[in-house]
Amino acid sequence: MIDELVSYNREFVKNKGYEKYITNKYPDKKIAIVSCMDTRLTELLPASLGIKNGDVKIIKNAGAIISHPFGSVIRSLMVAIYELGVVEVMIIGHTDCGAKHMNSSEMIEKMKERGIPQERIDMIRYCGINFESWLRGFETSEASVHETVEQIRNHPLIPSDITVRGFVIDSVTSELTPVE
Ligand SMILES: [Zn+2]
Repeated sequence: MIDELVSYNREFVKNKGYEKYITNKYPDKKIAIVSCMDTRLTELLPASLGIKNGDVKIIKNAGAIISHPFGSVIRSLMVAIYELGVVEVMIIGHTDCGAKHMNSSEMIEKMKERGIPQERIDMIRYCGINFESWLRGFETSEASVHETVEQIRNHPLIPSDITVRGFVIDSVTSELTPVE
């Protein structure tokens, strides 16, 4: 498993496989993309948009959502905008997203099956974590993308000259549909 990847890496480096990927940290296209961690998109998303190493910043999580207004997605966008010259942000949800069906009570049951005691869950709830909103799914990919676009457009620390646009990508054909 991980060991396979590590030994592949030894060979890759030895054979200078990295040479054709050399670039710098600044995104040439000045775009940041927020998308889902779905494995169908790993190669398909960049290939279908014509993105190469060095072109864009890609921020991924389960569902392409912003679960907290000052969490890691916004933090990454702040770095991308203020430090790395990004001027356009693309939110790309996708069809058949696994995160859509997330349900906090089902996940809490799975945690308990895996040995997490109820007292610990209660304690975390007591500390202010709202499992219902933190581990929530969404109705449709379009609605979720729309909400994320609005969160970024209305964020108090993101400048108003940043363009934010939303899309849903087909997980099989890669066809992009704009979300208005
Ligand atoms: Zn997904």
